[in-house]
Amino acid sequence: MDYIYNERNLDWLRAKAKDARRLSIAEEEFLDRELAIKLRERMELEASVRWWQLFGLEGHRLDSIEAEAQFIAHLDGIFKCPPASQFLTPTDSKRRVHHAYHFSRQRVYHGAEYLAPPTTRLLELMLYGYFPYWNTWIYLDRRSELSSDGYRKPKQWLALPPGEIPQDRLGITIEISVGWRSLIRSQSPAALFSSLKPFEKENLAKEFGAEGTHQHWLEQIAENLFAERGRLSRLSITYAGELEGDYLTLAELIAQGGRLPGKKVVMQDDDFLNCEPDNLVTRSSRGRTMACRSCRNPTTKELSTITKDSRGSSYRVCHSCLRRMSK
Ligand SMILES: [Zn+2]
Repeated sequence: MDYIYNERNLDWLRAKAKDARRLSIAEEEFLDRELAIKLRERMELEASVRWWQLFGLEGHRLDSIEAEAQFIAHLDGIFKCPPASQFLTPTDSKRRVHHAYHFSRQRVYHGAEYLAPPTTRLLELMLYGYFPYWNTWIYLDRRSELSSDGYRKPKQWLALPPGEIPQDRLGITIEISVGWRSLIRSQSPAALFSSLKPFEKENLAKEFGAEGTHQHWLEQIAENLFAERGRLSRLSITYAGELEGDYLTLAELIAQGGRLPGKKVVMQDDDFLNCEPDNLVTRSSRGRTMACRSCRNPTTKELSTITKDSRGSSYRVCHSCLRRMSK
């Protein structure tokens, strides 16, 4: 069923949407419950797909306790300080079948099925959410955008300002696009409808409701909110560290107790996942940041070389990219 293609009686919907501002408690509970079930299904599928595309395809397995222990050891090799294993609760034997897919380089769809722990554990193993550390809560930087000078932001730990407590362990934010440019944001997955402001409820009903009996109209709001057109959905679920913004890094917190204007904290060994206090140095953040033209990761004078392209203009490439190119 694709409601977008159906002819919608916009006048009826617009008038009816006003009712969304004053639903009974039972009706709001109904919507919250329906939406929570669908959110959960969406989260489960997305987590299964993410694990598969990030790790399963690389040959990692979680089908047994031994495989999981190996995977955690692999994580500790990447997340040096603090080590990833410090944040993981003990393994248990629960396993379920996950469904996933990936696209090959030729854009061919490949479905997959694998055995792994339940979704909450899967998310934990991918280090989603907030973890208590020192006197604060830390979470991984998952912002995808490039910085203003065009290099990819390093993967690193971010920190909540000390004293701030996350209201939800996973840091879930639900974003719903309504109309052309308006966005509804909610951090209440369990009360997605009832926690909205009255005008947001009305907008949601206007956008996603369907003509019919009152009950049909209600049911369709929940149904259509999760409808997908192609692979595009109007609703997206993000986790801690995925939303754009300006955040405090764990390195800043450890090295200088917080953010200091004009200062940045860098890692001596260039490993942004090594927050060992001895590894952190405070530098001036003024001046240009060096980035590798090829992988767009930040680099230093010592770890990169200036080369010239065919047109004679010079650019900087990091040593690991140089090694890869000369192969
Ligand atoms: Zn590079």
